[in-house]
Amino acid sequence: MIQRFDKIAVDFPVPNSPNPAAAAAVQELMGGKFGEMSTLMNYTFQSFNFRGRTKYRPFYDLLCNIAAEEFSHIEAVSYAINLLLTGSTTRANRNKPEGASAESPIAMVANLVTSGSTDPAPLAEGLSQRYAYHFISSGQTALPFDSMGNPWNGSYVTATGNLKLDLLHNFFLECGARANKMRVYEMTADPVARAMVGYLLVRGGVHIVAYAKALEKLTGADVGRLLPIPDVSNKKFPEAMKHEVKGLHTIMYHFSPTDYTRINEIWNGPHPEDGQELVVLDEMPPGFPAPDLEEEPQLPSPGEIDPEMIKHYAKVLS
Ligand code: MN
Ligand code: MN
Repeated sequence: MIQRFDKIAVDFPVPNSPNPAAAAAVQELMGGKFGEMSTLMNYTFQSFNFRGRTKYRPFYDLLCNIAAEEFSHIEAVSYAINLLLTGSTTRANRNKPEGASAESPIAMVANLVTSGSTDPAPLAEGLSQRYAYHFISSGQTALPFDSMGNPWNGSYVTATGNLKLDLLHNFFLECGARANKMRVYEMTADPVARAMVGYLLVRGGVHIVAYAKALEKLTGADVGRLLPIPDVSNKKFPEAMKHEVKGLHTIMYHFSPTDYTRINEIWNGPHPEDGQELVVLDEMPPGFPAPDLEEEPQLPSPGEIDPEMIKHYAKVLS
């Protein structure tokens, strides 16, 4: 079971302006092969399917705990996309002018026939955006798709039942996720996108180190000699460094008040990059209130039902 709190992990800045092109790129971090839906579902299925959990309890606890954290990451990516899309259509004529219903029904119909409607295309700005799904399939909000509109799919989940193989896969998955985040960071300087990417670069770095440590403890292999694949340093990313100076890269948050307590048997020792002591905090990360986004005009749009016109046609047809 899982418990939910109405907070999000990232403290987003107020957007300067809409950025639908950045929103389209950020979709890769949601529903791409290496997106947050993939990390969430890989660890979730591996934890459901875990065999031998009494013997391998610390590894089971780690998977369950990181899976819970990944839920907060799909949430953070969604809010980044939603903020980037907010205001990308102006909806200039979203409300009919005052007194429109005073017009005679016949004149209204004539007007609709000649002009198409009171606002010929309220979503016209969506037509020139490359990610049409944001304007057609959603209310200018996040979708479980990648940056090119391919839906996320279950074949991105690897849960072999072999703990060593699954942990190695998870290490690789986090490295791929990190590479995608760095590329999206380099594609857009938008402060909303970078606030989210900066936070997730740090948390993804924690997961890379966690799976490397889990593999070392399980097999005795020196995974540290494989690092950096990629370089786990966040020094080039100010939006990540602002979290690292507070030690966010050393913290494994405990996402349960009572369970999964043996994560500290894996998350301990020095951080491989700066040698700081790794700590398990017996709490969730500090959360922030979710932005309250303006409502989407309800369909059908545009126009309203005019009771006088309905009465008129009822009379004509009777
Ligand atoms: Mn993540
Ligand atoms: Mn992760």
